[in-house]
Amino acid sequence: NDRPETLEFQAEARQLLQLMVHSIYSNKDVFLRELISNASDALDKLRLAALRDKDLAVDTDDLHVTIEVDREARTLTVRDNGIGMSRDEVVSVIGTIAKSGTAELLRQLREAQEAGASQELIGQFGVGFYAAFMVADRVELTTRKAGESGGTRWESTGEGTYTLGALDEAPQGTAVTLHLKPADTEDNLHDYTAEWTIREIVKRYSDFIAHPIRMAVERPGADGAEATTETVTLNSMKALWARPRGEVEPAEYHEFYKHVGHDWADPLETIHMRGEGTFEYEALLFIPSHAPIDLFSPQGRRGVQLYVKRVFIMDDCDALMPNYLRFVKGVVDAHDLSLNISREILQQDRQIRAVRRRLVKKVLATVKDLKTDQPERYRTFWTEFGAAVKEGLVDDADNRDTLLEIVSVASTNDPAELTDLAGYVGRMRDGQADIYYVTGENRTTLENSPHLEAFRAKGYEVLLLTDPVDEVWVERVGSYQGRTLRSIAKGEVDLDTEEERGEAEAQRERQRTEYADLLGWLTGVLSDSVKEVRLSARLTTSPACVVGDAHDLTPTLEKLYRAMGH
Ligand code: ADP
Ligand code: MG
Repeated sequence: NDRPETLEFQAEARQLLQLMVHSIYSNKDVFLRELISNASDALDKLRLAALRDKDLAVDTDDLHVTIEVDREARTLTVRDNGIGMSRDEVVSVIGTIAKSGTAELLRQLREAQEAGASQELIGQFGVGFYAAFMVADRVELTTRKAGESGGTRWESTGEGTYTLGALDEAPQGTAVTLHLKPADTEDNLHDYTAEWTIREIVKRYSDFIAHPIRMAVERPGADGAEATTETVTLNSMKALWARPRGEVEPAEYHEFYKHVGHDWADPLETIHMRGEGTFEYEALLFIPSHAPIDLFSPQGRRGVQLYVKRVFIMDDCDALMPNYLRFVKGVVDAHDLSLNISREILQQDRQIRAVRRRLVKKVLATVKDLKTDQPERYRTFWTEFGAAVKEGLVDDADNRDTLLEIVSVASTNDPAELTDLAGYVGRMRDGQADIYYVTGENRTTLENSPHLEAFRAKGYEVLLLTDPVDEVWVERVGSYQGRTLRSIAKGEVDLDTEEERGEAEAQRERQRTEYADLLGWLTGVLSDSVKEVRLSARLTTSPACVVGDAHDLTPTLEKLYRAMGH
């Protein structure tokens, strides 16, 4: 065997580990949930790999997780016979954190920890494997990837470096051994070598895991006979989504969400539904309580897993949820699909498309109900996911009407509150024909925009749109309840009533003659920068402003298109 090498964690991984090693997170028991969750994922991946690749010589008949304890040595091992990791995979997934936005989150996390409030943020990060370092001062991992002959041994104390060595022999799959810190109630550490502690944690957090989680336990012999060991299965393995809704406790839903959503926080909403008839399926979907840090990154994870009759088929099933609902997490179990179905075929499948239509309607109806019945929760939802949901106004014409009821935007009506479009229409002034909006980088800039002056003077409300996607959807949607959505920064604005218009037109005519020379001169001088200089009805106190043609791209839109690679 080669001598083990010592390698350094990537900077961000090192920082996160520091936070774990010195964690004040009060619920340290969840480390076991994370390790079991990873083991279960590895088992799913192996079954799938075996299904896809007939040449992969692996045995998938008894996929399971084993928990082993050694009370004397104070170690706890979580072992699986799943897909395993190659040496390179160990380095890249255990030694680094690839998620975008990590640096920023870590900065916030450190600040929060200094302020003694890191819990919630740790929850948002979903620290996964590193959670082991909350309860262990040393962690060993041995693994062998399915189909490879040699294995890899990884070890670390979580303090900056890890060692990596090759193993000639190792069972296929992964074993993670924790050298436990001393049990200490002040540090909220339970005795993780005690059978009942483990039983309880598994029952609470991992009962629904679809593979058996086994442990050898000692049974005292009856009537002075010798003690025996027996292997017991700790979880019920019941697929939560297959159980009747009324029989599942909210806490069970929440733990299941944390497993499928790779999240530490409870979900905002749970949607459990069943489709009967020609195409049977069960769906258990969740709206998270916070956006993932990669919501707007093209490599970001999408949320829905596909199962066929309890067998995991794929993660990130994009055929089941449109892109604008990519944050929805959960499971869809379709009964009548082939286990070998590919992504490409799924996209074409008529029944899958029908399921997707129903899921989308249900998610949108759930959000709409939140908005009516639980405004606080709706506000959380909208703050986290609104910018993504608005993409639906562009992409999903079928649900546009529902989406238009869900949308909230900032407006000049109230500096602190958002409004929906119905609210805006309800406040429209007599004689106001259109819905006015202005787009830009942020609310403050927009509120100080000279474009707003004439509208303020008239008492007309203007929507202040600051997300890049806003420009696209207002164009695409065009109108709401028969009223045109009109940008106040484009083309001619006409705010006057019939009479005022006659009067104003007469006045403008006089002014045009009066200023004709000046305008001609300005147009000449500025000919490189602007098409035309004209008198404006839109300003009350500013001397001049730049406007786009009615059909021009606005600056933000230009930026958006460039970012999208157009
Ligand atoms: P996540 O599960 O959210 O991806 P984790 O930190 O829990 O994040 O795990 C990081 C990665 O390490 C996993 O995505 C997986 O690739 C790998 N991994 C962890 N545990 C195992 C395991 N038991 N078997 C195979 N791969 C594993
Ligand atoms: Mg994990």
